[in-house]
Amino acid sequence: QQTLAKVDPELWAAIEAENRRQEDHIELIASENYVSAAVMEAQGSQLTNKYAEGYPGKRYYGGCEHVDVVEQLAIDRLKKVFGADAANVQPNSGSQANQAVLMAFAKPGDTIMGMSLAEGGHLTHGMPLNMSGKWFNVVAYGLNEKEEIDYDAMEALAREHKPRIIVAGASAYSLRIDFERFAKIAKEVGAIFWVDMAHYAGLIAAGFYPNPVPHADVVTSTTHKTLRGPRGGVILMKAEHEKAINSAIFPGLQGGPLEHVIAAKAVAFKEALTPAFRDYQEQVINNARVMARVLGEVRGLRIVSGGTDSHLFLVDLRAKKITGKDAEAALGRAHITVNKNAIPKDPEKPFVTSGIRIGSPAMTTRGFTEIEAERVAHLIADVLDAPTDEAVLARVREEVSALCKKFPVYGA
Ligand code: PLP
Repeated sequence: QQTLAKVDPELWAAIEAENRRQEDHIELIASENYVSAAVMEAQGSQLTNKYAEGYPGKRYYGGCEHVDVVEQLAIDRLKKVFGADAANVQPNSGSQANQAVLMAFAKPGDTIMGMSLAEGGHLTHGMPLNMSGKWFNVVAYGLNEKEEIDYDAMEALAREHKPRIIVAGASAYSLRIDFERFAKIAKEVGAIFWVDMAHYAGLIAAGFYPNPVPHADVVTSTTHKTLRGPRGGVILMKAEHEKAINSAIFPGLQGGPLEHVIAAKAVAFKEALTPAFRDYQEQVINNARVMARVLGEVRGLRIVSGGTDSHLFLVDLRAKKITGKDAEAALGRAHITVNKNAIPKDPEKPFVTSGIRIGSPAMTTRGFTEIEAERVAHLIADVLDAPTDEAVLARVREEVSALCKKFPVYGA
């Protein structure tokens, strides 16, 4: 067998360059992480060759006896991690998991209620250009003056519009979400209560963030963020919804499941059940808190919502007179990777923004603790104070390089 380097040197070089980038940059994108070697091994396996339309024990193809074992392991472990009645591990992405919920419980034209994208929600929760916003009548809730979810306003909207589905969950909200309160109002107005826990899943698995599973009809997630598995999606549900969700995924939305990815998910769920994973998630939260505190209390930046209970937080950059777009670029030149992010009531356009989002999952995987988190926060602030000063950028880049060498990701 020839190696990739021999068969396709051009592609191999791009992969090698990306591998280097992942080693040499401090990764602070809140939705990213580094999977274990075991997860990658499963994903790179021969399971990629197998068609397996259907579900374990009920397939439309022969030769599925071994992939049935793989998929059942993933299902059983996922149920155990979150204490769920039933699980579907086939969604190819978080977005497809979310589409399945809409397909299972609503018809085009029905009213759904989700958190506004501009205030922290996700595209798939009703953004106008997304299928969820184009095919459904969307009522959006948001934040109050304290930049916490405005539960009172959300309840009033639910009573007024009686949505078919209420979704809780966010991509850029640092605080705890009161899932019980959402569940109560959903019950009162006769809505399906759906939680998209994509961002918080790892924290939830380890018990550091409220578990929505006891309260929700259906819970979707990605597997590649705090949960530290391969890119993909999953759905957890009450037993009564299993049939509707399973048929929404297949044959509703997808064909053959990606059994190599499902195998990698199974490995990640096994890892999520270990004490080491619990320790990791605790460190994730501690590192996020330290960075938010240093940037907020020591370096004079405003932290949206006043701080963080999770792995992420948003920084309001207006005090430094720099946009999110320029901050992302300047930090990138210093080998610190973040994403620009709208802050609540952002005066700038979505492609410019007045904020950045900072997350601790990836840096914690490579071994950073509070000491490094504090240093990273100072390096970020140094760049934001002098985004065009080449000497500052060079000094920060050097320190980033030393930190990255001290904490290699894959031992390279
Ligand atoms: N749901 C939430 C809350 C997310 O933050 C994301 C991704 O960022 C998704 C769903 C979509 O996941 P994917 O990118 O796998 O489609």
